[in-house]
Amino acid sequence: MGAMGRPLLNRRLAAFGTTIFAEMSALAVRTGAINLGQGFPDTDGPEEVREAAVRALRDGRGNQYPPGPGVPELRAAVTEHQRRWYGLGFDPDTEVLITAGATEAIAASLLALVEPGDEVIALEPYYDSYAACVAMAGGARVPVTLRPDGDTFRLDLDELRAAVTDRTRLILLNTPHNPTGTVLTHDELAAVAELAVERDLLVVTDEVYEHLVFGTEHTPLVSFPGMRERTVTISSSGKTFSFTGWKVGWVTGAPELVTAVRSAKQYLTYVSAGPFQYAVAEALALPDAYFHGIRDDLRAKRDLLADGLTDAGFHVFRPSGTYFITTDIRPLGETDGFAFCRSLPERCGVVAVPNAVFYDHQDQGSPFVRFAFCKREEVLADAVARLKTLAAG
Ligand SMILES: *Cc1c(COP(=O)(O)O)cnc(C)c1O
Repeated sequence: MGAMGRPLLNRRLAAFGTTIFAEMSALAVRTGAINLGQGFPDTDGPEEVREAAVRALRDGRGNQYPPGPGVPELRAAVTEHQRRWYGLGFDPDTEVLITAGATEAIAASLLALVEPGDEVIALEPYYDSYAACVAMAGGARVPVTLRPDGDTFRLDLDELRAAVTDRTRLILLNTPHNPTGTVLTHDELAAVAELAVERDLLVVTDEVYEHLVFGTEHTPLVSFPGMRERTVTISSSGKTFSFTGWKVGWVTGAPELVTAVRSAKQYLTYVSAGPFQYAVAEALALPDAYFHGIRDDLRAKRDLLADGLTDAGFHVFRPSGTYFITTDIRPLGETDGFAFCRSLPERCGVVAVPNAVFYDHQDQGSPFVRFAFCKREEVLADAVARLKTLAAG
């Protein structure tokens, strides 16, 4: 058969259309609505970090291919960050890898560690790149659904245990969790760790919201017994420092794991973001006050939007972390999140995202809708005022 005689997009990717964010952001532009769909801050991060990038560019640092594992300054800064916040020791030369954002770290981890046919367990709803990356790696994804419980979503540990089979290769964990805002508790993490050890599984943990946690603590899974040699920990500068466009992420883990991930990563981008790597090294060394400041700022914004959504008639799952709020639209007499989100810009000038896109079991996610609160206070206040007109209309 000729090249044009069959579908152009291969079978592994055919199920994945354009992301919902493209559709919803286009809708926001067309209608002039406030975009609380996609999770990017509407103000840049610290001025001194931006200046550090300018300095690196001007001084000619990172303008040519940086070293494959990342510039030494950033690898040292990542190591120091893990020590300072969690008391974890990593060797900057063998246990740290700089990536093109957490997105590439996730892709490279799965491409490196998964054989075709291996099962990969992921918490559902999941970040949209997980399913596509598992598919590109030839793996089979096995969703474990987070269940709504009062004003939060909970991981059912029995469901997680039951999902493990002889073909399970790894658990792809995300805490703090996008889109539900759930932060796994110490006991839940301990149970995940025990299961991984008992069944001899690898765990890839996406911890990009590690500093955006409110009123509770983030604990890296790697700190639990038996996890040091089987955990690939992923984080990124995008969310912590409000520079999502820079795409500087990192992997930390045992040398064998980091070497494996690097084998895939070197043929994806090889390297990226040279001058920004130097700037992120400076960002990671910012005093505690910076990290507490962004957390407190986002907690206030969470409360502003959560209270507004409650007043507007939504059931709100108050997030313990991330910069997203998941809501249930059923109190508004609605059941279909897709239809609701497509009509919301016309109805009240706000854009949100239907959580169903983050599910395999779309019926489970149908009544849930996600709003981002990483926006300026006046923007959130305006959005809240607009959403309040929903009940009236
Ligand atoms: C934003 C996000 C990422 C992507 O991080 P980048 O550093 O921008 O690639 C990965 N995982 C989750 C859960 C996210 O929300």
